[in-house]
Amino acid sequence: MKVEYITSIERVDGLSKDEKRRLKRVTEKFPFRANTYYLSLINWSDPNDPIRRIIIPSEEELEEWGSWDPSDEKRYTVAPGVEHKYRDTALVLFNNLCGGYCRFCFRKRLFVKGNKEIIRDPRPALEYIKEHPEINNVLISGGDPLLLSDRRLEDILSGLRAIDHVKIIRLGTKMPAYNPYRILNDDKLLRLIEQFSFKDKRIYVMVHFNHERELTPQAISAIDRLLNAGAIICNQTPLIRGVNDSAESLSNLINKLSFIGATPYYMFQSRPTLGNKAYSVPVEEGIHIFEKAKISVSGLANRLKFVMSHKTGKIEILGIDNEFIYMKYHRTPDGEVPKVMKFERNPEGYWLEDFKPVSQ
Ligand code: SF4
Repeated sequence: MKVEYITSIERVDGLSKDEKRRLKRVTEKFPFRANTYYLSLINWSDPNDPIRRIIIPSEEELEEWGSWDPSDEKRYTVAPGVEHKYRDTALVLFNNLCGGYCRFCFRKRLFVKGNKEIIRDPRPALEYIKEHPEINNVLISGGDPLLLSDRRLEDILSGLRAIDHVKIIRLGTKMPAYNPYRILNDDKLLRLIEQFSFKDKRIYVMVHFNHERELTPQAISAIDRLLNAGAIICNQTPLIRGVNDSAESLSNLINKLSFIGATPYYMFQSRPTLGNKAYSVPVEEGIHIFEKAKISVSGLANRLKFVMSHKTGKIEILGIDNEFIYMKYHRTPDGEVPKVMKFERNPEGYWLEDFKPVSQ
């Protein structure tokens, strides 16, 4: 199948003239990008179709809420395109394109004209990583690294593999969902994974399936090819209103991921990003969905953790009782020993600051 990318909402056949006119206003603020494969998964007769919700803009995005950089990534930017927040991990942004733009993306600022956070030349990033022997883990993230040419990807992977202290390379990608043909039609890409995923230093492909309907036969074949090439596959998804905000849809997703060998890894609390209120679910509701979804799945699907990527660290959301909600830092920039934190309940709370700590 030949997949064509579409960046004008006017070219989406499933929308009426009036919808196109109204949604154009939204895309002037938050750019639109999709492709013919992913659009073909939409059931246009269902206005609440989850695939439509992921990729087609909504006027709700114009509601004022949140900020461009809710996790304050700028604070941890140490060189152009390089973030160093946790001691052993570097995050590198080499690309400001994705196979589609998720409407709820927390890095949507990258897609807006004039953003300069991306680096084209990998050398300064490689130099920084080389000078920091504590970094054993490099995450190349989105924009989607699988939209880079094989040539650029090869330069980056070979550069990282030339640094002995880099053990894990993570590729954060939604391409198996957005356009699995990027993997199915490109043996060179698979050879690169084979070449640079060693038995003692693996490449992890961090995939991003939000709903079971994205797990098409093509997507499953793409995962199979990546596994056969020697990659380890983990899935991360935010909890998104209208996409996976029921125990049933979440358990179906994590069950199917476990069947195909993609470990359900993190479910993220949606970050309070500009335009994202309508896609966000309050934390307490999220806990109920998460716990209920996990009841009916195997231990392998059950490895999912519910986390909040806060500017102060990665926080695991542990649970709730009649009075309190419990969380624990999973990782902090200064590497402090984590302790369980207790907060007053707040059914309207979306982010750490919405919860009042209780001293213990
Ligand atoms: S794939 Fe990731 S980086 Fe790209 S638009 Fe979606 S959430 Fe954002």
